[in-house]
Amino acid sequence: MAKIMAVNCGSSSFKFKLYEMPEEKVITSGIVERIGHEDAIFQIKINGESKKTIVPVKDHGVAVQIVMDALLENKIIEHLDEIKATGHRVVQGGPYFKESALFNEDTYSKIESLIPLAPLHNKAHLVGFDAFKKVLPNTPAVAVFDTAFHQTMDKEDYTYPIKKEYTEKYMIRRYGAHGTSHKYLSEIGEKYIEKDGDKRIIVCHLGSGASITAVKNGKCVATSMGLTPLGGIMMNTRTGDLDPSVYYQVLKMSGKDNETIFQEFNKESGLYGVSGVSNDSRDVEKAALEGNPDAQLALDLWARRIADFIGQYFVRLGGCDLIIFSAGIGENSPESREMIMDRTKEALEIAYDRDLDYAGKRGTTFTITKPESKIKVMVIPTDEEVMLARDAYKAYLDMKGNN
Ligand code: ADP
Repeated sequence: MAKIMAVNCGSSSFKFKLYEMPEEKVITSGIVERIGHEDAIFQIKINGESKKTIVPVKDHGVAVQIVMDALLENKIIEHLDEIKATGHRVVQGGPYFKESALFNEDTYSKIESLIPLAPLHNKAHLVGFDAFKKVLPNTPAVAVFDTAFHQTMDKEDYTYPIKKEYTEKYMIRRYGAHGTSHKYLSEIGEKYIEKDGDKRIIVCHLGSGASITAVKNGKCVATSMGLTPLGGIMMNTRTGDLDPSVYYQVLKMSGKDNETIFQEFNKESGLYGVSGVSNDSRDVEKAALEGNPDAQLALDLWARRIADFIGQYFVRLGGCDLIIFSAGIGENSPESREMIMDRTKEALEIAYDRDLDYAGKRGTTFTITKPESKIKVMVIPTDEEVMLARDAYKAYLDMKGNN
């Protein structure tokens, strides 16, 4: 048995989950938010109850120290060396990482060199790693990349039709995102496919950030997100794929600067931009029900984009055995799933069972199609943190074995 910590550092936040491995039992979890402020928020679960305090947290180093102090004070651990490894989420691994990697000088400098491709994220991950290094200097840390699962894509699936020079010099290509979630979900999904031959899955990770991946025999062959998480399907606040001239034209006609437009495409577009209602899909659904035509159009557009990708991936995979819905919207909104099913079921001969779908219990795994359906469709809750813990635990075992 070993305690392993899953770590997700953003620019102003630090989320953690402490596991007992290999049982994958969550011992505690929490978050430090508003890092860099006098009134940062620290929350931790003690005996199942969430405890919240407002504390000054000048940087990530202080945030990690506060969490470790809380673990010791509450006797969740007796000594810091009980934590045998940490697994750190890293958004952009570029072309370098096909799997998780132990943090060493080489890993660190590669993550650093990829900062231009994920400025906010990769920088924050390194700051988080440095903070852990200070507090747990001898504990192995593992980088788990959102992009790693997508590294199995063929050139024709990841190359953009731009000048070769840009592809090569600036490493501009499709990298995808949410790979840890797509891997977790497709591994579970495979167990539900009862047939010999190729196992073909379309995974729909539909959160506020969302992506769709085509998986064949456990390997990603195509994914909707692109160079950055702005691409692919329409999202809560992100545009998804566009004709590049849209960007050019908005820039020219609005007179706004490049950075402003880029931020608008990231933060004020998608469901929010089209509906003008909110960046939370629940508010948009409510407004649509109340008769707001812009909210209805936003939802229609959203579902249409997803249906189009499902169709595309059906062709890419040469058929499909299973479609999985997951993440905030995919797990919790039968209305959204129904909209997508309505746009795909005829062509793909999906025998959608609306009653089953609406009766599904939140937080559980369930099927939303009838037994005779050509494609099985399921809702499966995702768990990215457990994947961080698994890879960190594996690294710990490997190191122990080598000593
Ligand atoms: P992320 O990790 O990308 O922030 P999540 O997977 O947590 O995203 O999903 C957040 C989204 O899920 C929000 O848009 C929220 O509206 C949506 N969501 C959460 N619960 C529900 C629900 N009960 N019904 C509809 N949408 C929901």
